[in-house]
Amino acid sequence: MAADVTGPSPRTTVRRGKNRAVHDTDQVHAILAAGVVAHVGVTTDDGPIVLPMAYGVRNDEILIHGAVANAMMKAGRSLDVCITVTIIDGLVVARTPFHNSMNYRSVVVRGVATAIDDPADKMAALKVINDHIAPIWDTARAPSESDFKKTLVLAVPLDEVSAKVRGEDPIDEDIDMDGPHWAGVVPLTSTWGEAVSAADLRGTPEVPAAVADLNGTSAK
Ligand SMILES: Cc1cc2nc3c(=O)[nH]c(=O)nc-3n(C[C@H](O)[C@H](O)[C@H](O)COP(=O)(O)OP(=O)(O)OC[C@H]3O[C@@H](n4cnc5c(N)ncnc54)[C@H](O)[C@@H]3O)c2cc1C
Repeated sequence: MAADVTGPSPRTTVRRGKNRAVHDTDQVHAILAAGVVAHVGVTTDDGPIVLPMAYGVRNDEILIHGAVANAMMKAGRSLDVCITVTIIDGLVVARTPFHNSMNYRSVVVRGVATAIDDPADKMAALKVINDHIAPIWDTARAPSESDFKKTLVLAVPLDEVSAKVRGEDPIDEDIDMDGPHWAGVVPLTSTWGEAVSAADLRGTPEVPAAVADLNGTSAK
């Protein structure tokens, strides 16, 4: 059951392109379900840093994980972070470059990241993150205690959330409409391919069904 995404807070109010702002809970969750990479931004003593990461969504929170030694993950613990998930759907080519754009679906989550320390909850959260694209957690070897200890899991509540969706033609000016220049959209689609076995694979283990099933499906 998707958690309710509340309306915009003052800092998650889309200012420009307001017509593209989405506050529909189901749509927010659909974008998060379809996305592959989260860009996680934190402020550190060194200055701001934004890193791409895997993520998962559990009811009312977005989850990320990383090495305990990861500077950004450490910095993010108990601090305000910003997590952005972006799916690009097309290149929008206008009659003049000023109006070039992209079609996209994006979600921005802002909030305080809390470390999940309870072992059972942490293990459950790791499963959610790892199963986000291909659910193989239950069929692969479980993490060792050492791996588990070396991993930090952070959760950010899906309270301050905004989404923006653009899915339309270029918006050109009247002066260009009868001109000679082309305008339109180049759709962008990514698709998972057929799984390629590791060169060092021993024996004849089968490709897990959840991995094989990705073949030909959309990697948004
Ligand atoms: C692939 C892609 C390419 C883009 N390229 C550009 C570009 O080149 N130049 C440019 O100015 N803008 C670009 N945008 C739009 C950009 O993300 C902002 O939406 C835009 O700059 C307007 O910001 P603002 O001043 O309203 O937001 P701000 O006032 O900076 O932000 C206020 C709040 O609005 C919300 N918000 C803002 N943008 C988004 C978003 N995209 N998705 C979800 N929530 C959002 C956040 O919660 C944020 O905290 C691009 C977006 C995408 C997805």
